[in-house]
Amino acid sequence: MEKQKLLAQGKAKSMYETDSESVLLMEFRDDASAFDGKKMSALNNKGKVNNQFNAFILDLLAKQGIETHFIETISTHESLVKKLDMFPIECVVRNRATGSLCRRLGVEDGLILDPPLFEFFLKDDALGDPLINENHILSFKWASQSDIDEMKRLTFQVNEILRELFDKANLILVDYKLEFGKFEGRVLLGDEFTPDGCRLWDKDTLEKLDKDRFRQDLGDVIESYQEVANRLGIEINLD
Ligand code: 5GP
Repeated sequence: MEKQKLLAQGKAKSMYETDSESVLLMEFRDDASAFDGKKMSALNNKGKVNNQFNAFILDLLAKQGIETHFIETISTHESLVKKLDMFPIECVVRNRATGSLCRRLGVEDGLILDPPLFEFFLKDDALGDPLINENHILSFKWASQSDIDEMKRLTFQVNEILRELFDKANLILVDYKLEFGKFEGRVLLGDEFTPDGCRLWDKDTLEKLDKDRFRQDLGDVIESYQEVANRLGIEINLD
């Protein structure tokens, strides 16, 4: 599969066309960003760690019946994915309250949420990714009711699978963000699942092992991602 024209450049990934119309090349870069791009930095090996982390998780989800865009890794920092027609929506599930939820509602940080809380956000950096609800999605025709239902069902199913996976690695899956798109009429999981888009706390110490280390200047960002990968048995190739 040949890497062709750059199609889109996000804050941490670049998408390239390939010689197949339905396949894109997803390149994970070393760039890190937070606060809708207001804080930017480059972190050595981030692209390689996240590409291989994402491959492990999306492969595991596929084996559990969740259809994703992931096809295969083709280098340490690049993967091939199916070309989806993405919804401009972020699906967030929270098992514990933290981050923007605490700022918005003034609830205690770390509060266990039972049942887990589902939230939709509009994917729009300029607007600061605002919280939206299903009525916004329907009225602005960002997705249909059946697509909304499918995104919610899949996001909760991912929670069941990954909560258990991380629990076995002595980690709490605090919250995470997923993005979906359409492929041949079906709703598929797109984008990525890496410590960039979720929160993971050590079960005993509640130490943060995710992108909050970058957001909050806690240091050892990629070392922490590697620690999570290690605990999951993911062998990261940094060559
Ligand atoms: P919060 O709403 O508390 O900022 O984020 C909730 C969860 O979704 C966190 O795990 C956070 O990492 C993830 N998340 C929300 N928005 C974004 C985003 O624009 N980019 C990334 N990488 N993660 C996000």
